Amino acid sequence: MRIFEKAFRVIQQLEQDGYDTYLVGGAVRDYLIGKDVGDLDIATSATPEQVMEVFDKVIPIGIEHGTVLVRFENESFEITTFRTEGAYSDHRHPDSVNFVTDVAADLARRDYTVNAIAMARTGELVDPFHGRDAIEKKELVTVGKAFDRFQEDPLRMMRGVRFVSQLGYKLDQDARKVMEDERLWLARIAIERVSIEMEKLCSGKDVKIAVQLLHDTGLWEALPIFKDHPDLMSELAEKIEPLHSLAEWVALCSLLSERPVLEWVKEWKLSNAIKQDAQHLVRILQSDLDAWAVYQMPVHLDDGYCRLVKIYKDKDMQDSVASIRKLLPIRNSSELSISGNDLISWFPDRKKGSWIRDLLLAAEKAVVENKIPNKKEQLKEWVIHGYDT
Ligand code: ATP
Ligand code: MG
Repeated sequence: MRIFEKAFRVIQQLEQDGYDTYLVGGAVRDYLIGKDVGDLDIATSATPEQVMEVFDKVIPIGIEHGTVLVRFENESFEITTFRTEGAYSDHRHPDSVNFVTDVAADLARRDYTVNAIAMARTGELVDPFHGRDAIEKKELVTVGKAFDRFQEDPLRMMRGVRFVSQLGYKLDQDARKVMEDERLWLARIAIERVSIEMEKLCSGKDVKIAVQLLHDTGLWEALPIFKDHPDLMSELAEKIEPLHSLAEWVALCSLLSERPVLEWVKEWKLSNAIKQDAQHLVRILQSDLDAWAVYQMPVHLDDGYCRLVKIYKDKDMQDSVASIRKLLPIRNSSELSISGNDLISWFPDRKKGSWIRDLLLAAEKAVVENKIPNKKEQLKEWVIHGYDT
């Protein structure tokens, strides 16, 4: 429990002032399972104002929902006041949040029993919904009736499938049945929230089973673009292996659906960074793997590219990409030994214009393809005499 030492000191500070405080959520679950623990969430009977009185550095990140961020010994901890929730009529946030002082009431609002265990500073567990039994049985059981909990917040269906992917657990019968019957509830959820779950889903070790589940339950019918391609989810289920990012997922979906990355990014409201990475990946997957293609792909995408070629073309390219990359004479255009100013000085009579960019690009490509060494003198020769021929 050494990973929790600092969190336990945070908890101790709140307890000293008389507030009941626990570690909750994914960290407790993952610790009990024996998996690597992610972010540490703390829940307390103190109100956000009271938490702010206990610590010096507090950022009110979601104060209306009871959440503040505390900086403690150079680390950040999210501390949320015990609460119960009203309905989610905007499908983003609950309409009302009631702060409560009883940890069991807070655990009751949580989605799955494995996520509804609190751990005290002593290591003692508060587990009113038998989350440990569910861990033992490797089962995802909703806290309370699945119908009610999914109706309240349909994202929980998607989260369920995400946990299937990450944990390798089974959904319990009841939850699975409600998902099948009420799958279209998911379409009401703000797509940004769904995207966050999809990102975690696509990198889970059991992603194949999870994607098959999205197909079998019909949840795909509530997902943008998938809903227009009835065969896409099952085709994905057949091919997919664990990915490392949403960009890889989008690239694969774009190739299989023959719908441009741009559409996926728009419909799923994804970031510019994801768009660019996915576009790079699609471009290189559709081209031949040569020096120019590898050069143009940012190096952080090499592994993702290899994962996708394996899935999409059933080829192992790990060594090829690595060896092509290793032999590249330059890594980016700033390493080219000539510049726009050189070109201008070599062609003093030409009016400035797009020819400069075109010529630089041609020189860059020639260097990358090893047609000419990256030496100023030789490039000058080539530019002046050899470029057009
Ligand atoms: P991860 O390891 O990916 O962070 P997590 O279980 O911690 O998984 P979070 O989204 O960080 O997931 O949420 C923290 C906790 O808050 C969950 O464990 C769960 O108890 C609760 N929770 C999160 N989202 C919901 C939801 N939509 N409905 C009910 N409870 C939720
Ligand atoms: Mg978490």
